[in-house]
Amino acid sequence: MANQRKFIYLDHNATGIPVPDEVLKEIAKWTKNGFNPSTDSKYAKDAKELIEKAKSDILARCGVSSLTHKIIFTSGATESNCFIIRACVTAFAKKIKSKDLIPHIVVSSVEHTSIIECVNKLVEAKEAEATFVRPTIIGNINPKDVEAAIRPTTCIVCVMFANNEIPVINNVRAIAEITRKKQVAYHCDCVQVFGKFPIKVAEFGLDSISASAHKFCGPKGIGISIISNQLIEEYGLVGEINGTQQNGLRGGTENVPGIGGTLVAYELAHKNRDKKNTHLLNLRRHMIELLKANFNIGKYENYALQSEQKKVQDFELLFLGPQDERFCLLNTLLLAFCKNTRRPFCNIELKRALDAKSIIVSIGSACNTSSSHASHTLVAIGAPQVVKQGVIRVSMGDSNTKEEVEKFVAELVKCVKKQVEKEIAIKAKEISQNQP
Ligand code: PLP
Repeated sequence: MANQRKFIYLDHNATGIPVPDEVLKEIAKWTKNGFNPSTDSKYAKDAKELIEKAKSDILARCGVSSLTHKIIFTSGATESNCFIIRACVTAFAKKIKSKDLIPHIVVSSVEHTSIIECVNKLVEAKEAEATFVRPTIIGNINPKDVEAAIRPTTCIVCVMFANNEIPVINNVRAIAEITRKKQVAYHCDCVQVFGKFPIKVAEFGLDSISASAHKFCGPKGIGISIISNQLIEEYGLVGEINGTQQNGLRGGTENVPGIGGTLVAYELAHKNRDKKNTHLLNLRRHMIELLKANFNIGKYENYALQSEQKKVQDFELLFLGPQDERFCLLNTLLLAFCKNTRRPFCNIELKRALDAKSIIVSIGSACNTSSSHASHTLVAIGAPQVVKQGVIRVSMGDSNTKEEVEKFVAELVKCVKKQVEKEIAIKAKEISQNQP
């Protein structure tokens, strides 16, 4: 696969690039056809049919149908996540009625900020109580910890399918078995796997899922929620944004161009998916090999949960997350460059240096911020400062090539060496200035 871009884009977990021409054409088509799908005119029929087709096609790929599940389009996965949590809490509060009891939420502490913030706001407003389940040091959630956190008042469990920072996949089937047994709703944020991996909603035992179109190269501002009718009926879920559209679960005129673009992007993402996933896995393996050939590799378990900065004698590169590919998000690598000289390695400086070479990656935490401002995910896996300050996330997409991976590693090696050498020079100068 060749691509003609002037930059190397390795930040696909932030957003999928490029948006295919077919998607852009579909968005333009439905922008020109400006009829409101809720109106009775015969001219609105096409828009109405498009929405129905998008719903039934996406549900079918998820192994369910409108007989058992509702799909609603939202403004993004942020809204989908907040909607299901708030709707469950509101409905459950009505059910338990007693003034002494408030709904309880079990949530993993490495969820996306849209979930963490929503839960925190509900707790602050005393509308809910919450138990945050900590991950293991490789970033996955132990189903037994979820089970132990569930109370008689628990109304929803939120554990994501795959993390957006640490390349880890959770054992969602085992978590679903527990939530089924305890009769608690299981909401699973599927944003990072939707379009890359078949999400069989009912087979996996998920009551509700969220996804985001721009992560699979669709338009921005479109989210998806799939919720089982059983959950809607048993809890008596109602919309948080009022109105009659989308079965009253999400009011507001549907974003027809966005839905059209989403359907095309979703279909394109699934075309030759197995082949694309093999390609992603090969790119990841190649990148690991090249990195191992260029850096000393350390072990994260030697750093995790250390309250004091570990004294790193040599410069080490760590691969965060599971080492076993079977539990990995196959497009992502979370790297930490660890050096504890006068000042630890700085990921911001590295990101800027790569940016200057037109290579786009992201950083897991900011090198100059205190731990309270660092990524909540890195805090949750017990990363000490020396690790947090050296983290960069590399997330590949279908359009990346082997040549891009090689160019990236070559530039990375140069940028890292430059920073380390600069640091050594500063230190040498300091020593010579301090000599009598
Ligand atoms: N959940 C996860 C795991 C994400 O990675 C993101 C976006 O980065 C979201 C939710 C929010 O998605 P959106 O940008 O559609 O609001």
